[in-house]
Amino acid sequence: MKIKIDELDLSLQTRAGTDAETIDTYADAMADGSQFPDVTVFTDGNRYWLADGFHRVMAAKQIGKTTIAADVRKGTEDDAVVFGGTANNKQGKRPTRADVRHFLEMVWERREAIFGGTPTGGNLAEKCGVTRQTGVKFLQVKLAEMPPAPVRPTVKNLHLPKANSTAPTAQVKMPVRPTQLVGANGRMYPVRPVAPKAPVRPSAPVAPPTRPERPAHVVPLDRFGTEIPVELQPAFDGNPLAEILAHISKARVALKDGVASGNAAFAAVRQDAILQLDNAYNFVKSAVPFCVCRMCQGDGCKACHNKGFQTEEQYDRNPKEFKA
Ligand SMILES: [Zn+2]
Repeated sequence: MKIKIDELDLSLQTRAGTDAETIDTYADAMADGSQFPDVTVFTDGNRYWLADGFHRVMAAKQIGKTTIAADVRKGTEDDAVVFGGTANNKQGKRPTRADVRHFLEMVWERREAIFGGTPTGGNLAEKCGVTRQTGVKFLQVKLAEMPPAPVRPTVKNLHLPKANSTAPTAQVKMPVRPTQLVGANGRMYPVRPVAPKAPVRPSAPVAPPTRPERPAHVVPLDRFGTEIPVELQPAFDGNPLAEILAHISKARVALKDGVASGNAAFAAVRQDAILQLDNAYNFVKSAVPFCVCRMCQGDGCKACHNKGFQTEEQYDRNPKEFKA
């Protein structure tokens, strides 16, 4: 089927970058009427992730096409990554070492969804279509980069009162929420109850409340009123990513306006440059902290990749009990 290029999500490029020469070659051939294989797109019914065919899409854009023939499949973002990376091994421009590394990094970031946890080198090799040696080597590097696993309490080693065993075995696998957690540093942290909405009191006629002066030592709170732990405060207060985003945005506008102006200085600038700035913007934006991790209150857990905060995307994936 034909798909609108504008509707494609181009953020899942599994190669380290696109190659301008390849795009030019494809664009020339397309303009001459050469038939190219359909690009591969995955969709959850809502978003359309380009999985394979980045050079073809760029080439089509370059010659002014707005649609492209696509093989559209049902699947997740993770499916698109795995498909795209393995397709690179089989066809088109031979992947460079940087391409392979980039692909493995993308899979690694999604290891929870793809493997349900940390894969072995062999799992990686099989899934990504690389040699076992490459998979093992990559795994070793990643494991060496990981901080030592913090000692994290599990529900079973906390002394909790036994849950009512007469209750029917629920299909819903909601973890029992302990009321306290022991942090890696040995301190105890209270776990906030989920959404303890205070009942609205019937309003007695009271004088308009005078806002008490905020004492200087008050702990900063995130958007949901959760205390921001000291070590996370730089991520929330004056996060430099905001300024970086502004810079990228400014560069993008300047480049786009320059190209549009017809100024000779911009004559050789490719459309791809603007697109890559869009990508950069989106990648950086998706790294901006959204809230203190709803699951661990900043202590570090899987849901926040041990960062203590969640990005908006991570927050969106929380079970609804862990949303505001
Ligand atoms: Zn967490």
